[in-house]
Amino acid sequence: MSAYTIGVLAGDGIGPEITSAAMTVLKAAEKRSGYELFDWLELPVGKAAIERYGQPLPQMTKDALRGCSGWLMGPHDSASYPPVYKAERNPSGELRRSFDLYANIRPSRSLAGVNGLTKEADLVIFRENTEGFYSDRNMFAGAGEWQVTPDIVLSAGVFTRRAAERIADAAFRAARKRRKRVSIVHKANVIKLGFGLFLETCYEVSKQYPDVAVDDFHIDAAAAHLVRHAHRFDVILTTNMFGDILSDLTGELVGGIGLAPGLNAGDEWAMAQAAHGSAPDIAGTGAANPTGLILSATMLLDWLGERHSDRRAEKLGRVIDKAVFSALAGETRTPDLGGNASTAQFAEAIIAKLPV
Ligand code: ATP
Ligand code: MG
Repeated sequence: MSAYTIGVLAGDGIGPEITSAAMTVLKAAEKRSGYELFDWLELPVGKAAIERYGQPLPQMTKDALRGCSGWLMGPHDSASYPPVYKAERNPSGELRRSFDLYANIRPSRSLAGVNGLTKEADLVIFRENTEGFYSDRNMFAGAGEWQVTPDIVLSAGVFTRRAAERIADAAFRAARKRRKRVSIVHKANVIKLGFGLFLETCYEVSKQYPDVAVDDFHIDAAAAHLVRHAHRFDVILTTNMFGDILSDLTGELVGGIGLAPGLNAGDEWAMAQAAHGSAPDIAGTGAANPTGLILSATMLLDWLGERHSDRRAEKLGRVIDKAVFSALAGETRTPDLGGNASTAQFAEAIIAKLPV
């Protein structure tokens, strides 16, 4: 029997192409390693699910995911007009809420063969994923804004000690396996109570990790430093909106939107999801770069390894990472990186780099 059932939610646009590429690479790596780790379960989500089941995230998909160890999530269309999903009903938001995926983890790492805009950087952002000013997911559940008069709006931010504690704990745990430095990013000089509580709680948690160095930056200073000194950062610990914004900045600094991975992690489940959107302009043409989702999948393997104390999952993740990095340094490239290889050809190039 396999150890983990992995859900696969293809999603919209380039989603089917990149999820299929990611599955092909994981299956090949699993086979070469001799481990029997995965069962795969493809489930409907997004526009395809609306067509067949009348809703973007059918109950059967949610029920099936409860029996999964984690899943790969394709992007959803957020650019069409009129919008496909009402703001509070987009499938990945709903999954984050239903499965309490409170940590959004977004690494940015300089890679050989990729033209970055920065010196060698290797950092990871831990973004609080359940509250702050994102009223689609905080306790106001989509209703956290009030039109006071036609000319005045109030928008609520929610900050709780518990949410700060658990994202801080995840960030410090990760720092221990890295270069042992956490930088807290906030704006406690202006939003004194909300960001103040976040900052104070993060420092409180840091006391349990005396071996990890900690400092903090205002968001404006952090953005400026990142442009010139991204290489100095290791783990960035921050709130929902700042993590969203900074991860676009750091993703672009190291090479662009097709490469940036992400994991939405809770205590029981985790969802691998690339940082980019559904790229409707290239959907169906086979031009999508699957790297972001494949590296997200290896983050899921790391998470499984930690959650289940399973060295095999982590080892497999490292093997795949290495193959991806060495494929990126090679000749076979997708159009976003200046080549003319298809999504599937690039997946094959990665497989060719796996150890035999
Ligand atoms: P969405 O609403 O789904 O976010 P979007 O129009 O914002 O759609 P993005 O997916 O965010 O599109 O992409 C922005 C640009 O980057 C597009 O030109 C797209 O083709 C490109 N892009 C995004 N992801 C990839 C990828 N994996 N490989 C290659 N190009 C990509
Ligand atoms: Mg987009």
